[in-house]
Amino acid sequence: MRGVEREIARQDWTGMRCGCGGSAEHLAGDLLQLAGRGPGHQPCHVSLEDHVWSAVVLWEPAPAVTSVALAALADGVAPPAREWFLDLLQHLVAGEGTAGESASARRGLDLPQLCRDRAVQGSWLLYAEVMSNRSVGAGTAFEILTVVEPDRARLQRLREIAADWLPVCCRTGMCDDGQRVSDR
Ligand SMILES: [Zn+2]
Ligand SMILES: [Zn+2]
Repeated sequence: MRGVEREIARQDWTGMRCGCGGSAEHLAGDLLQLAGRGPGHQPCHVSLEDHVWSAVVLWEPAPAVTSVALAALADGVAPPAREWFLDLLQHLVAGEGTAGESASARRGLDLPQLCRDRAVQGSWLLYAEVMSNRSVGAGTAFEILTVVEPDRARLQRLREIAADWLPVCCRTGMCDDGQRVSDR
């Protein structure tokens, strides 16, 4: 069993309520499929919208899915899957609140903050992604860092080093503007 499978296996999916209203159990299969570790052995896109994240709110499985997405990057999943996991991670760190009717909200959990705390622990993966994945992934990884990286000088150095291949919004800092880093 490799890193991503192990990370999926160690989460208590059945104990979590999914955004779709049912048990989060189905996410284990969805995430394996995304990573290309399901029965088809090919990465296959599955949208987790309204299961893990909705427009601006997150659902209970979000922190567990953050850990799985980082494990998938660490595990070197194939290119389309890397971009899907990066997109997923971006939705998770950009969440603005915990879904109001969820059990997490009742327990007073701040799911977006929990996701950002986990993502920051894997920030080395995001730095590596910016440096090595010079396609779409570099911009997404950089934008995640603009949300979670507390060391702004370090982020600025990365921006300069990767300037040749980062999209213009990341190069100029345009996509930092909408972020709420300064408020945290
Ligand atoms: Zn669901
Ligand atoms: Zn950007």
